[in-house]
Amino acid sequence: MAKQRSTPLTVRLVKGAYWDQETIKANQRDWEVPVFSHKESTDANFEQMTRLLLENHEHLYAAIGSHNVRSQAHAIAIVRELNIPRRRVELQVLYGMADKLAKALVDQGFRVRVYCPYGELIPGMAYLIRRLLENTANTSFLRQNLEERPTEELLKPPVMDSTEMETQPQKFSAFHNAADTDFADAQKRERALAAIQIVRQQLGKTYLPLVNGERISTQESFDSVNPSNPVEVIGKVGLLSTEQAEQAIQFAKAAFMTWKKTPATERANILRKAADLMEERRAELCAWMVLETGKALGQADPEVSEAIDFCRFYADEMERLERGVNYDVTGENNRYHYQPRGISLIISPWNFPLAIPVGMTVASLVAGNCTLLKPAEVSSVIAAKFTEILIDAGIPKGVFQYVPCKGSSVGSYMVKHPDVHMITFTGSQEVGCRIYREAAELQPGQKHLKRVIAEMGGKNAIIVDESADLDQAVQGVVYSAFGYSGQKCSACSRVIVIEPIYDAFVNRLVEATRSLNIGAAELPSTQVGPVIDANAQKRIREYIEIGKTEGNLALEMPAPESGYFVGPVIITDVAATARIAQEEIFGPVLAVMRAKTFDEALEIANGTQFALTGGLYSRTPSHIAQAQADFEVGNLYINRHTTGAVVARQPFGGFKLSGVGSKAGGPDYLLQFLEPRHISENIQRQGFAPIEGAEQ
Ligand code: NAD
Repeated sequence: MAKQRSTPLTVRLVKGAYWDQETIKANQRDWEVPVFSHKESTDANFEQMTRLLLENHEHLYAAIGSHNVRSQAHAIAIVRELNIPRRRVELQVLYGMADKLAKALVDQGFRVRVYCPYGELIPGMAYLIRRLLENTANTSFLRQNLEERPTEELLKPPVMDSTEMETQPQKFSAFHNAADTDFADAQKRERALAAIQIVRQQLGKTYLPLVNGERISTQESFDSVNPSNPVEVIGKVGLLSTEQAEQAIQFAKAAFMTWKKTPATERANILRKAADLMEERRAELCAWMVLETGKALGQADPEVSEAIDFCRFYADEMERLERGVNYDVTGENNRYHYQPRGISLIISPWNFPLAIPVGMTVASLVAGNCTLLKPAEVSSVIAAKFTEILIDAGIPKGVFQYVPCKGSSVGSYMVKHPDVHMITFTGSQEVGCRIYREAAELQPGQKHLKRVIAEMGGKNAIIVDESADLDQAVQGVVYSAFGYSGQKCSACSRVIVIEPIYDAFVNRLVEATRSLNIGAAELPSTQVGPVIDANAQKRIREYIEIGKTEGNLALEMPAPESGYFVGPVIITDVAATARIAQEEIFGPVLAVMRAKTFDEALEIANGTQFALTGGLYSRTPSHIAQAQADFEVGNLYINRHTTGAVVARQPFGGFKLSGVGSKAGGPDYLLQFLEPRHISENIQRQGFAPIEGAEQ
C-alpha cells in the first residue's frame, strides 16, 4: 500500500502489547494463539520485523519502540549496515522508563521520541500501570537488567522457539467447543460471502414436512421471506394439518419400540455425525440464517458453533448417564439408571433458528425419545436444513419428524395429545404459560403426566456502578442491547446506572450506539439488521411511542425504509415501574434508569417478573460479591456482555417467569428427557439355583 501511494508512512514496532488479552481471547475462542508464547520468540520476531521495516525504508519509516538495549542496538546496526538516512528512523522509549538508554541513543546521533500519556488522569494511570506490569514481568529486559544479569546473557541473540508454530488452543476439558470463524481471515470472509450467493440461487424452493421418513404434501403452505427484503421468498413451507399431525404421532409411537432399545452410543454417534456435517456446511447454514432471519453474519456464525456443541456435548452426556449408578451392598445389587420418556414434542422460536431447535431436538433424541420438531413458522427453512442433516447423519424414520405447522392450532393439538409425553418449548411467556397449562390437563386415555420444559422471555438488566471501566461497560451494553436488533432472550433491555456516573455513561452510550451500522443482514458492514417481521416492527414502534411518554428520548436512529427495520432507540430517566422497564419488547429499545445506591440498583434490577440474564460492570469487590448473592437471574455476567452463552461453559436458562427447566448446555439438561428407574436385586443364594431349561 505504501509503495502504491508513493508517500512513505511510519510504522511503529512494539512487542508484547496486549499479550495477555490476545492469548486469553484466542484460548477462549479455540483459535490459534496469534502471539508467541515464549518471550525469546517475540524478541527474535521483533528483530526480523525490524529488518523487514528497515530494508523498506524508502516506503516505510521505522519507529522502534523498545526498552530492550539489544533490540535498539540491533536496529542501529541495520541502519548503519544499510546506510539508511537517519531521518527515516526513530527510536522510542516511554518517559521515565529508560532514561539512560534514551540518552545513549541520542549520543549515537539518533532521533529519539520519549513519549508519555496525556489527557485524563485515570485512563492515563491505567496505561502506566499496564506498562509497569509489563516491564516488571520476569521476562522483561528492564527487570532482568536490574537483576544484574551478565551483559553477554542480556545481549545474546534471541532464538525462535521451534515449538512455537505448533501452539494449539489450550483445552480445558475432554469436551471441546467448536471454534467460531475468525473473520479477520480474508479467505474465510470470502467463503462466507460466496455461500450467500450460492444460497441465493436456491431460494423459493418448497419444504415439506417429514413424516415417517417421507416428505408429505400439505393443503396449506407458508412463504418464509427475507426480513431485510420481504419480497424475496426464502422458501415455501408445507404446513401440517391436524390429521397429518395425528399420523406423525402414531408413527413416532411405533418407532419408539426400537429407538428406546438402541444403544446410547449408537444414538450419540448420530449426533456426532450431525455435528460434523454442520461443520462442513457452516458457511451455507450461516447464509440461510442471514437470509431467512436477518441475522448478521457475525451473529449467525457462533450459532452454528453452538448447534455443533449441543450435538457433541449431549452425545457425551448421554454416554455418561447411560452408565447409571450402582449402590450395591453385600448380597444386594442396586442399580439406578435412566430410560427415555417416550414421544417428545419440540416447539422452537425463530430468534435462534438453528441452535435452539438443534439443542432441544438432539437432547431429546439422544435420550431415546421419538421426537417431533415444530419450528417457528418464519424460520422453518433453516429447520428443514437441519432435517436434511439429521437424515444424512442416519436418523431412523419415525424417530425424528419435521412437523412445521401453525402453532396456535396444530401445535396446540399436539401439546394436548394424550400420547405425547413431553413438550420442550422455547418462546414467549404467553405461549409458554399456555402450553404449561394445556399440558397439565389430563386427556382421556392419557396414562402419564406430561413433562414441560419452557424457556421464556426476559427483561434483562445491566448495572453499571461508579467503579466500572466505562470503556468496557459502554461497549458491552451496546453489544448486549443491540446485537441482532435486541431480539435475543438474553439481550439487555434495561441499564441501571449509579448517579455519579450517570451523565458520563449516557453520553458515551448514545455516541457509541450512534456509530452502529444498520442495514441488510448480508452486508459485511452490518451490525444491526432488521427485526423478524412486520408484526414485530409494528409492536416495537408502538413501544417506542410509549417509551417517549415514559422517559426522555436520547436517541432514535434512522433505519432503511424497505425491509422490517427499526433503528436503535435509547430512552433515559425511565422509572422502574414504567411499561418499557417491565414488558419484554424484543427489539432494539433500551431503557436507562438512574439509581442512587448500589442496593437500589439491585432492587430495580430484581423488580420484574423475569429472571433470565443480568450483567454488572464494576471493579468493587463488595458489589461483585453482593450481585453474585442477590442478583436474581439464571445467568449473571460480570464485566462482560450478557449474550452469547457457550455450551458447557455458560449453561443457559432462567427462573421466575423466564422459564421452568434445567439449563441448556449444562450437566442437568438431559435428565429432563429421561425417567429415572431403580432396580434392587437380592443376589444372596437361597438353596439352589435352577439351571435355565433344566425343567424339561
Ligand atoms: P412464540 O412464543 O411466539 O413462538 C414460539 C413457538 O411456539 C413457535 O414455534 C410458535 O409457532 C409456537 N406456538 C405459538 N402458539 C402456540 C400454541 N398455542 N401451542 C403450541 N405452540 C405454539 O415466540 P417467538 O416469537 O418465536 O420467540 C421469541 C420469544 O422467545 C421471546 O419471548 C424470547 O424471550 C423467547 N426466547 C427465550 C429463550 C430462552 O432460552 N429463555 C431463548 C430464545 C427465545
